[in-house]
Order: sequence, then structure tokens, then C-alpha cells
Amino acid sequence: MLLRVVKYGTPVLRQKGARVEKVTPEIRQLIADMLQTMHAYKGIGLAAQQVGLALQVTVVDVRGVTDRPSTLELDGHPADVAKFMPVVLINPELQPVGSQVTGPEGCLSFPEVYADVSRPEEVIVRAMDGEGSRLEFKCGGLLARAIQHETDHLNGILFIDRMTRDVKAGLRAELDAMQAETRAVLQSATFPAGA
Ligand code: ZN
Repeated sequence: MLLRVVKYGTPVLRQKGARVEKVTPEIRQLIADMLQTMHAYKGIGLAAQQVGLALQVTVVDVRGVTDRPSTLELDGHPADVAKFMPVVLINPELQPVGSQVTGPEGCLSFPEVYADVSRPEEVIVRAMDGEGSRLEFKCGGLLARAIQHETDHLNGILFIDRMTRDVKAGLRAELDAMQAETRAVLQSATFPAGA
């Protein structure tokens, strides 16, 4: 089922996700729906908060982007990124390694907004996968960036929080307008005309 992606200004985007201890049929369905939604919107990642749920569940698939490479190490050996996709991360914990790199980022909750964000080049990821098994790997490049962006979502952190003051200032008018529009829509949904 295709899910609705909420936009900047929706309160759930600022909520820290609850840990998920078990992959129940409901979580399994949520993961399937999130994968379908991410692919439909041509995103490379989607967090539960973006579909209105404050849970530590995210999906990532970088295969749609061919001009920005990713690296992957499983059990200390280089591994095929494409074969590893899509990846489901539940309760992910990240250990940054390597230096900071700056690169462009977008977000399905911020349509049309793209800006530079600086993040560690590589991360070690520990999480539960979509089957409830422990997962540990090291990644770099676009995959590391996407996973850091999505893990931030699970903690109520947005990419605008990671931008430099100057970059954010350049987007201020656009962001304020988006937030106001989202709030107006939410308010009209809560208080329908004539009610
Ligand atoms: Zn995002």
C-alpha cells in the first residue's frame, strides 16, 4: 500500500522513534509499504516518521542513483552494494568513521529542497534487519549519507539541522513557506469547515 509522505511542519517529524523489539506482522507490513512508497517517489531512503509513525524503522535503497558511488563492507570484506539493497534498518546505531564530507541532499518531506550537508564519510551500522536478525556493516559514499540522513529522522533530526547557517539562511523563505502551508493543511484537516 502506498503511504502518504508527510511534509516539513508535521509534528511527527520532530519525534524520536520508539524502539521496535520484535518484527510483528504489523511491522512487516509497514516495511513492505515503506519500500513501495520509497520506490514510488524515487527516494533513496524513507523513515517511519515520514509516513506518520514515530518508530525506529527505516528503509534505504541507493540503486536508483548511479552517479554517486557507495561502498560496503560485510564481515571486513568489500561487498556488492546493489545486492545488499534495499536495506531495512530497525533501531540503527551508527558509529562514524573517517572525515567529514560535504555533499548535496534532498528529502521526500522537503520537496524541491536540495542543499549541501556535511557528514562523516563512512559509518559502521548496527541494527536489526527486516527479519529481526542482527545486522552489522560498514559503508561509505552515498549509502553512508543516506543511512545517516534516515537515522537522523528516527531521532527527530532533519537535514536542515545539519546545514551550515549560511546554507539554511538561503533556504529560510522557502522553508518558512513550506512549514506554514503544512500547518494550514493540518489545521483544516483537524477543524473541517462547518464543524
Ligand atoms: Zn529525509
